[in-house]
Amino acid sequence: MKQSGERHDFASDNTAGICPEAFAALEEANANDAPSYGEDRWTARICDRVRELFETDCDVYLVFNGTAANALALAQLCQSFESVVCHEYAHIQTDECGAPEFFTKGSKLLLISGANGKIDIGQAEAVIARQNELHSHKPRVISITQATELGTVYSRDEIAAIGEFAHGRHMFVHMDGARFANAIASLNCAPKSITWEAGVDVLCFGGTKNGTAAGELVIFFKKELSREFDYRVKQAGQLGSKMRFLAAPWLGLLTNGVWLKNAQQANRAARHLADRLRNEAKIDTMFPVDANAVFVRMNEQLVRDLHARGWHFYKFVEPTVYRLMCSWSTTDRDISDFVADVVALNH
Ligand SMILES: *Cc1c(COP(=O)(O)O)cnc(C)c1O
Repeated sequence: MKQSGERHDFASDNTAGICPEAFAALEEANANDAPSYGEDRWTARICDRVRELFETDCDVYLVFNGTAANALALAQLCQSFESVVCHEYAHIQTDECGAPEFFTKGSKLLLISGANGKIDIGQAEAVIARQNELHSHKPRVISITQATELGTVYSRDEIAAIGEFAHGRHMFVHMDGARFANAIASLNCAPKSITWEAGVDVLCFGGTKNGTAAGELVIFFKKELSREFDYRVKQAGQLGSKMRFLAAPWLGLLTNGVWLKNAQQANRAARHLADRLRNEAKIDTMFPVDANAVFVRMNEQLVRDLHARGWHFYKFVEPTVYRLMCSWSTTDRDISDFVADVVALNH
């Protein structure tokens, strides 16, 4: 049923539709009238389901998108004179139009590099040491992205090391989990083992890229950190009046392991795409393919020719590294069509 001509298959995991299970849950929630502003049974159930999944008593909020989830979570953790340590490729730095700085009303992002999109603790330590007491922002949060913007996944030990580092300096750990499902599918571990057990204080858990239309969860593992967060959400225009339509599709994901099935499918597609590009087109990947992204170097002529054949995808790292994103809806046919065009055009 995919349209030929214009192919958005690998441009983003947001180009995929709503997965069938989330859609069915949405239809079920639409059968009758229900209380508004989160007083409905779907919202209550998703909060309980999240506590069950993470095996802990946590506070759970729903907002419309990932930018709001990150920015509001960081604003909750930081005073205006405090700062957030993050990777230079972090979504909060590159793709949120200053929302974290805007909602914190003055916090600064302290950028760290590190191989494969992961924060290098040694560099974090050096940058924090350079902050001049009273005269600089006070480092307050370390934000990590799991899976990372470069399609890699932090191991449990890597996260625990960051957690220990942060808490030793009276800092919090925020996790941007827009692709948390892909990370869990990759590591095949319990959600608690790479979150609160490893020192993560707040998780933004993404559903959109996993198969809903909208709606991300903000999860506070220390309940004292969520004080009056509901007011912050409302003021930011992020309180869903018909919240059941954000909550119900999430229940569709978190029932019968659909979220993991979707993430496994996306990860598998990415590995398959990477293998075929390597074997058939002699194009190597730039970073380990741990999750659902494949990064490749392609020359400009090849990219122009692929775009001319209708393939949409984006340059991610200057000058010539492109990102190919897979999702729950990527099929073997999509991969075959793309690889065939790459092979035909790459000379
Ligand atoms: C997609 C994404 C988000 C959320 O983006 P929105 O467009 O605001 O929903 C956040 N972090 C990362 C790493 C992402 O890839």
